Amino acid sequence: RTVYVNGEYLPEHEAKVSIFDRGFLMADGVYEVTSVLGGKLIDFEGHAKRLARSLSELEIRKPMEDEALLEIHRELVARNDIDEGMIYLQITRGAPNDRDFVFPPEETAPTVVLFTQSKPGLADSPAAKEGIKVISIPDIRWGRRDIKTVQLLYPSMGKMMARAAGADDAWMVEEGAVTEGTSNNAYIVKGNTIITRQLSHEILHGITRAAVLRFAREAQMQVEERAFTIEEAQQADEAFITSASTFVMPVVEIDGAQVGQGAPGPVANRLREIYIEESRKAAI
Ligand code: PMP
Repeated sequence: RTVYVNGEYLPEHEAKVSIFDRGFLMADGVYEVTSVLGGKLIDFEGHAKRLARSLSELEIRKPMEDEALLEIHRELVARNDIDEGMIYLQITRGAPNDRDFVFPPEETAPTVVLFTQSKPGLADSPAAKEGIKVISIPDIRWGRRDIKTVQLLYPSMGKMMARAAGADDAWMVEEGAVTEGTSNNAYIVKGNTIITRQLSHEILHGITRAAVLRFAREAQMQVEERAFTIEEAQQADEAFITSASTFVMPVVEIDGAQVGQGAPGPVANRLREIYIEESRKAAI
């Protein structure tokens, strides 16, 4: 695999980052994952915008313009011959000369790393036909989940807790309501209404979420942006998650209780279909 690190395209085993990198020592960095369908980028503009916002909220210098970033994405897709998959991008506050809580001097260059992940069959996922099972876990993450930082230890532990319980993923709960999934936004469906938590500092503002809600409204579905409980989700007609790497993925079981008929529902299936079709059309 050819990867990108700080201005260079290199074979992955030759790519290196300093042990003093603040991403490594302090999780002082942000990331984006953009999916690739038919060798083209899905929603690049949305990811670039959110990246700029994450950087600005943390006062990390934006290392390059969006056009340059797009060029690197395309170059990596071409060099690695990616048809379906993802591109991972990470930018950290860089590598000063020593470990220090204080931010490094202005002139410290941010570290920029990108690599591809080939996932043949991403759009035609077997999991989407069966649906996934989730468990609920308390949301003990920090208070700025709207910034896409690389502090992923708790979400990673959440996936392991799900796996230990025989489930696929975890929905996190705070003050009695679902915030989001470990790496996705959470939704329920009641009749013709799609319900998903409102945007705030409590959740990541999903790029897939924005697109799916737009498509839902265009398809004359009702959208309610509000918090919901695990109990309400278990009683709902359908449930699903969204993310750049899973698109729209039906949820068929929550904490052991079957949702609806225990199979992917018509709303989730339709939204998945629309999302993939429209994203393919708009891909660049
Ligand atoms: N919430 C969290 C916590 C996530 O990690 C992600 C995906 N990285 C999402 C939501 C979904 O965001 P997107 O649709 O932009 O992938």
